[in-house]
Amino acid sequence: MAGEPQSDCLFCKIVAGEIPATVVRKTEHVLAFRDIAPKAPTHVLVIPHAHYPNAAALAAAEPRIAGELLAEAGEVARDEGLDDYRLIFNTGAGAGQTVFHAHVHVLGGMPMNERMV
Ligand code: AMP
Ligand code: ZN
Repeated sequence: MAGEPQSDCLFCKIVAGEIPATVVRKTEHVLAFRDIAPKAPTHVLVIPHAHYPNAAALAAAEPRIAGELLAEAGEVARDEGLDDYRLIFNTGAGAGQTVFHAHVHVLGGMPMNERMV
């Protein structure tokens, strides 16, 4: 069923606590944790607890949670003291997506003029 945990999904395992992560924010529907291979001084991933393959699929099925994801990304930036930051949603392997559970990258803390993730 749409949104159900997937046994082969890394981020579902992080949501379930089966794989450790450095969690920085958690709400009923959204989890934020530090990227394991940071590309900037702040590099946090914000994900829905529910499994959707990408951000657009999440927004189509659960628009309220998609809005919460964006709001939480903003809260992460605020918590990290960032005025300037970048939000990235890679969608599809050809665009650099490697984990097929919706997530937004929150990147900041350095000049960002190049592609980063
Ligand atoms: P993407 O390439 O947009 O799908 O982003 C996936 C991100 O997940 C990459 O930036 C990885 O560094 C990150 N990542 C992979 N495994 C872990 C993990 N166990 N904990 C935290 N971040 C991870
Ligand atoms: Zn998942």
